[in-house]
Amino acid sequence: MATQRTLSIIKPDATRRNLTGKINAKFEDAGLRIVAQKRIKLTMEQAGKFYEVHAERPFYGELCEFMASEPVVVQVLEGEDAILKNREVMGATNPADAAPGTIRAEFAESVGENSVHGSDAPDTAAEEIAYFFSGLELVG
Ligand code: UDP
Ligand code: MG
Repeated sequence: MATQRTLSIIKPDATRRNLTGKINAKFEDAGLRIVAQKRIKLTMEQAGKFYEVHAERPFYGELCEFMASEPVVVQVLEGEDAILKNREVMGATNPADAAPGTIRAEFAESVGENSVHGSDAPDTAAEEIAYFFSGLELVG
């Protein structure tokens, strides 16, 4: 196992319901350190570029509109096996399938408005972190 960093986003359905602290507590309780964090409002263009990999999927337009609808909190989580560990803490994409105690089981409203994003692999984690944070903002 190695120390990794992963990109997390607390999505608009969660910031709207004032859940940032409760979600951050889930990360910290799992041993993930929040080593960078900022609250921003994405433009449609920024959301579209971030989710470009899903451009051909039927939900793409709705997803981008949702992500640009209200502020998000973008963050870098660090820890042992952080990418996989974060995916475990998040739970399955569809909250109906998410294991009890996971963020999506407890907080997500639907498969689309599912409270959190997390990188899925080392290469995408590096790309996604660089999309939102400069080296100067990552002090460990
Ligand atoms: N999504 C959706 N409908 C679907 C599948 C995904 O609206 O049927 C949205 C949802 O917000 C999800 C995001 O698209 O979190 C990215 O999908 P992905 O399959 O990468 O899921 P994740 O990695 O977020 O679990
Ligand atoms: Mg994904």
